[in-house]
Amino acid sequence: MNTEPAFDVIILGAGAAGMMCALTAGQQGLRVLLLEKSNKPGKKILMSGGGRCNFTNLHTAPENFISANPHFCKSALSRYTPWHFIELVARHDIPYHEKELGQLFCDRSSKDIVNMLLDECAAGGVELRLNVAVVDLVVGAQIKVTTDQGTFHADHLVVATGGLSIPKMGGSDFGYQLAERLGLSILPKRAALVPFIFTDQHKALFAALSGSAIAVSVSVPDQSTAPTFQHQMLFTHRGLSGPAMLQISSYWQQGHALCIDLLPGIEVLAELTASKSHAPNQTLVQWLSHHWPKKVAEALLTWQFPDWAVRSLQALNQQQLQLVANWLGGWLLKPSGTEGYRTAEVTLGGVDTTALSSKTMACQTQPNVYFIGEVVDVTGHLGGFNFQWAWASGHAAGQALLESKRS
Ligand SMILES: Cc1cc2nc3c(=O)[nH]c(=O)nc-3n(C[C@H](O)[C@H](O)[C@H](O)COP(=O)(O)OP(=O)(O)OC[C@H]3O[C@@H](n4cnc5c(N)ncnc54)[C@H](O)[C@@H]3O)c2cc1C
Repeated sequence: MNTEPAFDVIILGAGAAGMMCALTAGQQGLRVLLLEKSNKPGKKILMSGGGRCNFTNLHTAPENFISANPHFCKSALSRYTPWHFIELVARHDIPYHEKELGQLFCDRSSKDIVNMLLDECAAGGVELRLNVAVVDLVVGAQIKVTTDQGTFHADHLVVATGGLSIPKMGGSDFGYQLAERLGLSILPKRAALVPFIFTDQHKALFAALSGSAIAVSVSVPDQSTAPTFQHQMLFTHRGLSGPAMLQISSYWQQGHALCIDLLPGIEVLAELTASKSHAPNQTLVQWLSHHWPKKVAEALLTWQFPDWAVRSLQALNQQQLQLVANWLGGWLLKPSGTEGYRTAEVTLGGVDTTALSSKTMACQTQPNVYFIGEVVDVTGHLGGFNFQWAWASGHAAGQALLESKRS
């Protein structure tokens, strides 16, 4: 009987983390089988960044990640930095640019990144199989994966099956279920980097402004440790979106209010008082239209202060101006919920990192099984951080596989 396993490692999931792990291990001479359930590798890469893939962020730091153990991501991120990925991108002559805040995007298309990863996998002799359904999985000293395309054996298993977001694009609970089967705990999961919906009276207000955006800063008062995000807020047919809202959604929980500073960086009362003295005839709406599109100023002021919106500044007393300033500086709003996994960019929570090695991503109790990428309880902020985690954790596991083979 041939006891030699056919592969050193079987990787489940040809997304960002799985392909990075496969190319790293393959190029070091390991025999790698990469199994993907869908008909294409890297579907989320293809749809990311509006089709241009925000593939990393120059300012990547552990503070850009949410995890029950904020230290867990540090080792992998420090050993595979944005510059390592940029070097790879440059080697493939892929044109890119910094959009803002260190966010790097492809000039042409996300396809460039997927093709690059596939070329690198091919260079490492990785065997990629698509449309594979895993039927059974035996985890022991050896790994046996039974699929509709045959049964495969390996020394190691890497789980890179991603999170629950966008089920149509491959979002699946496979990795969580497997982790549970192996006795690992799963930290509570929820949709993150996701738009808010409102089903109360705000819905019609926001729907009427759908497509307009203003710069805000937003926080969650109930979550004192959550950061404040300053960026654009977009009105939608169902509620609020845009980068500021997506970012804060990762910290928001059902029932919490958002506190939105509608004119960040502006001393509103001082500006209103000064305007009252040098342009006393302008209305509140006219004054706010210097900062926002007129349509937004009109709708929000009429909503909040129906009797004052078109009054001149001189007709408003100091107490009234103070109330306007208070509202603009901290509008408290309670979303009804989020759009959920249907549109969320990521899944927060997941495989508890206390069961994993931060150096190798291997399970402490089952050292030949590794969890990488989004399935792990490490979630990046918006801006290329989630891909950087996928590259870094995939690379860490890929390197560890070789070390484990040597020892
Ligand atoms: C619309 C959208 C835009 C995004 N834009 C960005 C961005 O610009 N920048 C950024 O940093 N992040 C972005 N993200 C987040 C980013 O895509 C993910 O964090 C990242 O893809 C996670 O990588 P992963 O390899 O862990 O999982 P995935 O990329 O989701 O890959 C998991 C793979 O596993 C496969 N799979 C699942 N179950 C099985 C199974 N049982 N057997 C075999 N295969 C299986 C899936 O089909 C999939 O191909 C975006 C996400 C979305 C949804």
